[in-house]
Amino acid sequence: AAILEIRNLKKVYADGTAALQGVSLQVERGEFVAVIGPSGAGKSTLLRCINRLVEPTEGAVLFNGTDTSKAGGQQVRKLRREVGMIFQGFNLIQRVSVLRNVLHGRLGYMSSMTGALGFYSKRDTEEAHSILQRLGLNQQMYKRADELSGGQQQRVGIARALSQKPQVILADEPIASLDPVTSENIMQYLYTICREDGITCLVNLHQVEVARKYATRIIGIHKGAVVFDGAPDELTDEV
Ligand code: ADP
Ligand code: ADP
Repeated sequence: AAILEIRNLKKVYADGTAALQGVSLQVERGEFVAVIGPSGAGKSTLLRCINRLVEPTEGAVLFNGTDTSKAGGQQVRKLRREVGMIFQGFNLIQRVSVLRNVLHGRLGYMSSMTGALGFYSKRDTEEAHSILQRLGLNQQMYKRADELSGGQQQRVGIARALSQKPQVILADEPIASLDPVTSENIMQYLYTICREDGITCLVNLHQVEVARKYATRIIGIHKGAVVFDGAPDELTDEV
């Protein structure tokens, strides 16, 4: 069964903007999906409806067959661990260490209490260490997030998402504020976690050539609707 099934999803924002006009699609476990389209097409809204950062107006999002629209507070928190997100602007806690950013990601929802007091279990700390190591950040663990370069900060964002043991990672323009070389590096990391950990990735991208290079499937969005859905080599330049 599909890990994600989106049925006739519509989003009208409070000001009347119709950001999604009836999107339907299924994503299988382990796919690496690039979502492309011009600015304002609805890509970000689509991802945010999947983890309920945005409340859909109509339609349904099924995660492993379960309709997420009926999820209450606790279930939404669980959903957001299983469907991790990384952002264009990294969204780290700037004046806090890299390690703590990752631990907070792991425990933030469950025990923000102990986190706020600065206590983490040895096991959680060791796990955060090993994830950071995997992302090439062993030298940066005790630095403040705001001391890192953009590429390093995005790797922390990936580490924070990974620490929650997600089944899906949603990446909203993860490379839009990075230089080309750093962008490739971040895409390589995302590709690797998809391949090695079997984590399903949905990545919003501006750059079609990057989408072609990494994605197993490309979804084109225009004015809140799907205008292309297929393999990278089926994509022509018209989208
Ligand atoms: P993309 O990610 O493709 O750039 P978005 O999903 O961010 O597209 O935006 C789709 C449309 O919805 C745009 O017209 C945008 O201005 C609008 N939009 C996004 N967020 C909001 C919001 N919170 N309130 C009103 N309109 C919004
Ligand atoms: P991005 O392209 O990274 O999504 P945006 O500038 O489009 O960044 O959006 C930044 C924030 O403003 C988002 O939370 C989005 O939902 C909100 N936003 C975007 N467009 C509008 C809009 N027309 N009205 C209100 N909020 C908006």
